Amino acid sequence: MQYLFSSRRVLEKRMQAKKHILLCLDFDGTLVPIYPRPQDALLEENVRSGLVKLSSCKFFSIGIISGRALKDIKEKVKIKHLIYAGNHGLEIAYRGKIFIYPPAKKYIPLIIEIGKKLTRALRAFPQAVLERKGLSLSLHYRLVKLEKLSKLRKIFFKLLKPYLAVGKVKLTHGKKVWEVRPSIKWDKGKAFLWLKDKLKSRDLFSIYIGDDLTDEDAFRAVNKIGGLSILVGRRKSSQAKYYLKNIQDTQKLLRVLLERCAR
Ligand SMILES: [Mg+2]
Repeated sequence: MQYLFSSRRVLEKRMQAKKHILLCLDFDGTLVPIYPRPQDALLEENVRSGLVKLSSCKFFSIGIISGRALKDIKEKVKIKHLIYAGNHGLEIAYRGKIFIYPPAKKYIPLIIEIGKKLTRALRAFPQAVLERKGLSLSLHYRLVKLEKLSKLRKIFFKLLKPYLAVGKVKLTHGKKVWEVRPSIKWDKGKAFLWLKDKLKSRDLFSIYIGDDLTDEDAFRAVNKIGGLSILVGRRKSSQAKYYLKNIQDTQKLLRVLLERCAR
């Protein structure tokens, strides 16, 4: 994996040769730091204004693809003309319409049921933050004290076991978070490719930036179509071809991309 800014010139050339750029970004850990309680995350004004400028530039289409619920991610970013995908791409707001991946809909009652059970079972863990997101659930354990973590894990997995056993839901792991999702083949990568097809641009360059394990699906997808996969931070193994050191680097990249609009 190469540091993105050490290959900057090469990348600029690749980008300049294309008419349109689809830039998709994850939110938490990519555009904002990871907050112990996700509801506290705040997008800095200068980052927001960078995204606004990029989105009003004809060369760019900007998408935010997050594990948060669609409504939540829209409220956090609060920019009108962006494309938003929530619940790891299961729900997408594009050009005034909301697309929900059809096979996911029938899982909503089940996810609600598991959410209710978890809320009851986790009463003794006020430090665990359960996000009930309609199409999926996230249990954030960043604030849970180490000595309580194994007990929490035990309760969580015991409750989920019967659902996992019959393959109704799947479990994914992120940074200090467990996620319960419908067991269907749809992820950030599929959502990204769905968007790319919607744009119908023949001369498109795509970029995906993310920091967590669920972003790996998107890295794989963007690699497949010759785009740019960028990991924020480092880890032992990743499908991303490039990395940025931190969210300040993400912000720097937004400024670099804006230079294209000035021309
Ligand atoms: Mg993230």
